[in-house]
Amino acid sequence: MMTVRETVLGVAYLITAILFILGLKFLSSPRSARTGNILAMIGMVIAVVATCFDTGIITWTTIIIGAVIGVPIGFVSARLVKMTAMPQMVALFNGAGGGAAALVSAGEFLRGFQGGEPLSAGQLVPIVLSAVIGSVSFSGSLVAFAKLQELMTGRPITYAGQQIVNAIVLLAMVGLSVYMLLGNESVPVFAGIVGAALLLGVLGVLPIGGADMPVVISLLNSFTGSAAAFTGFVLHNNVLIIAGALVGASGFILTTLMCKAMNRNLANVLFGSFGGGGGAAGAAEETGGVEQEATVEDVAIQLAYARLVIVVPGYGLAVAQAQHAVQEMAELLEKKGVQMKYAIHPVAGRMPGHMNVLLAEANVPYELLFDMEDINPEFEKADVAVVIGANDVTNPAARNDASSPIYGMPILDVDKAHTVMVIKRSMSPGFAGIDNDLYYMDKTLMLFGDAKAFVSEILKELPARVAA
Ligand code: NDP
Repeated sequence: MMTVRETVLGVAYLITAILFILGLKFLSSPRSARTGNILAMIGMVIAVVATCFDTGIITWTTIIIGAVIGVPIGFVSARLVKMTAMPQMVALFNGAGGGAAALVSAGEFLRGFQGGEPLSAGQLVPIVLSAVIGSVSFSGSLVAFAKLQELMTGRPITYAGQQIVNAIVLLAMVGLSVYMLLGNESVPVFAGIVGAALLLGVLGVLPIGGADMPVVISLLNSFTGSAAAFTGFVLHNNVLIIAGALVGASGFILTTLMCKAMNRNLANVLFGSFGGGGGAAGAAEETGGVEQEATVEDVAIQLAYARLVIVVPGYGLAVAQAQHAVQEMAELLEKKGVQMKYAIHPVAGRMPGHMNVLLAEANVPYELLFDMEDINPEFEKADVAVVIGANDVTNPAARNDASSPIYGMPILDVDKAHTVMVIKRSMSPGFAGIDNDLYYMDKTLMLFGDAKAFVSEILKELPARVAA
């Protein structure tokens, strides 16, 4: 017979699970994402409150001290973080989740071990899995954070025999785990497993370039979810199992989608030492291509007399925080009767949904945002494609040049528009470190400058043209 308390807790956890699933569902569209977030938040509050009334809480003091320290840190840092620093913020939070899962497992191991009775395989397996995966995620996320925050070099750190060293650490970790599961449980063996897992997290992320970190963070996020699910088995907590499984699965799906949109596979991201940020010699240097510059006046006139203008935002728009200026420019042009659309590449920027979030912040209407598949056929009808701080996601080499590192990556077909305007500060390459042939096409005008400053200049120039 279940007690009333158990029944209430069971129902609370069930509601939580439903809210998490609905939250994820709503998060799949920018239109409903806010609702999804709120639903998931409500689910989390119910889960936390219910857990506080669940069994197993030994002392409230530690929980209250933790909350008093943790809540303001989380709240203030989430409010202050800049959009461009969001990936490292996610890395830190994710690392904290992995670390928490590992600590809970370590606590349960010690409690069981000190109990005198040998732990059963059914208890040990989830404890070890949660401790190992959580530790890898914790230390790996910290390295990812350090790389993105430029506390250490963002370039891939490689050395001879690196894969062999990593393989030895992995084997040691697996070997010790099997040894323990065969009935040799002891604190030193457990500490050895956790130590090897922490080392593996560090060694595994070191050879990955800083710009690949969002993919790695998404993968580590999936690890943290799995670690949490195993912790759920350790604690016999169903909602932790469900929430962990949801995070684990969705993190893995996101990782796969990101790799697909970059035309890479996971092995290439993890072991390819790609994207160190170094500039590669470009095709144009080899072909002697010359770019054409234009003045703000030329640009304003062309835009004012266009019928369809497609804005292509990229990482540089995020760096410059040009979204509000772009929205103002679009509004002015729409008043003049120009049809405005925004082309969203799935990996534009440095994290999934980066452009959607930025444009939503500037109140760009959702219906003007188009996914790559939907907008690509529109480019040939567009009078102007305005590429703002985007580079790789517009590079025709992905279609035409089999020797290009981004060959095969789906791109936005901006080169099919009648005129292409590219706003960036210089001819420097983007994340992939390669030159962009788009910049040397006859139809392309290079508008050199910071995205926000340049769009603001256009904005000053436009009223005269719009009235004309
Ligand atoms: P890119 O990194 O290719 O290019 C960004 C461009 O913005 C640069 O060429 C830079 O040129 C310009 N820029 C930088 N600062 C400014 C500024 N203040 N004003 C104007 N321009 C500026 O960006 P994309 O968005 O086109 O492509 C994203 C890349 O990141 C892809 O290669 C993708 O694979 C990768 N990636 C994406 C992830 C994601 O989840 N979204 C995750 C991991 C990687 P300049 O210096 O001359 O100004």
